[in-house]
Amino acid sequence: MMMTSVQWTVLGCGSSGGSPAIGCDCDTCRSDDARNRRTRCSAYVRIGDSGVLIDTGPDLRQQALREGIRRVDAVLYTHPHADHLNGIDDLRAFCYVKQGPVLLYGNDFTLDNIRRRFDYALAPPSPVWDKPVLHTELVTQPFMINGVSVTPIPLRHGGWPCLGWRIGDCAWLTDLSDIPDSSLPLLQDLDTLFLDCLRPQPYPSHLHLAASLDWAQRLAAKQTFLIHMTHQLEYHALSAQCPPGVAVAYDGLQLTF
Ligand SMILES: [Zn+2]
Ligand SMILES: [Zn+2]
Ligand SMILES: [Zn+2]
Repeated sequence: MMMTSVQWTVLGCGSSGGSPAIGCDCDTCRSDDARNRRTRCSAYVRIGDSGVLIDTGPDLRQQALREGIRRVDAVLYTHPHADHLNGIDDLRAFCYVKQGPVLLYGNDFTLDNIRRRFDYALAPPSPVWDKPVLHTELVTQPFMINGVSVTPIPLRHGGWPCLGWRIGDCAWLTDLSDIPDSSLPLLQDLDTLFLDCLRPQPYPSHLHLAASLDWAQRLAAKQTFLIHMTHQLEYHALSAQCPPGVAVAYDGLQLTF
C-alpha cells in the first residue's frame, strides 16, 4: 500500500495578540530573531494532494503568502475565538482559485457560531466568486482524508467545548485548560504533539508553562512543540527550560511524516 505523505507547517504559534505585542518593549518584542515573531495560532497540513488548515486566524492571508500556500480543501476548526476564526473571509481566495467550495469541520458549538456570524459565506457561489463558498460538516468521529485518519479530540477551554485535532500520529492541541479523561485514549502513541503553552503564570482558560510541561510528560509523545505563546515567553529563554523531548515551536516550522 502506498503511504500518503503528510507535511505540517506551523503557520502561527502566537497567542491572541501576536508577538511583538503592540506597545511593548520587552526582550521578545524587541528581538530580531524571527522565532520571536509569532503570528496568530494556525497550521497548514498537506495530506497527499489535499490542503487542510487548522483554523483561520486574522493573519491567514500573510501566512498563506509567506508559505506559498495555493490550495485549501478543508479547515479543521478548534473553536470560534477571534484569533482562530476571524480570517475566515480570506478563504474566498482559495475558493476563487479553484472555483469550488472549502469544507469546514468542527463541533456544534463552533459551527453554530460560524453560521450566526458569517452566514454570507455559506451561500452558493455568485458568478464572480466574490465571497467565500463554505460548507459546514459536523464531526464527532474520526474520518479519513486521502487514507490518513483525522480525529477530533474534545477539550475544555475555560467554559467552552473545543476540539484538538489528530492527523495520523501528530496532534494539535491549542487553547485548552483541561483534557477530559474520555479524550486520553485518542492521544496514545503520538509521534508529535503541538501543545498550548500560554505564559509563565496560570491563566483560567489555557495551560501555562508548568501545566503544559506536565501534560507533555503525561501524554508522552516522542516530541512535543509548545504553541500559542504570548510575548512573555522568549524563544531562547523558554527553550533552555524545556526538558528533553520538548521544544519551542516557531512560525514556519515544518515536519514531514
Ligand atoms: Zn487562541
Ligand atoms: Zn513584549
Ligand atoms: Zn481561545
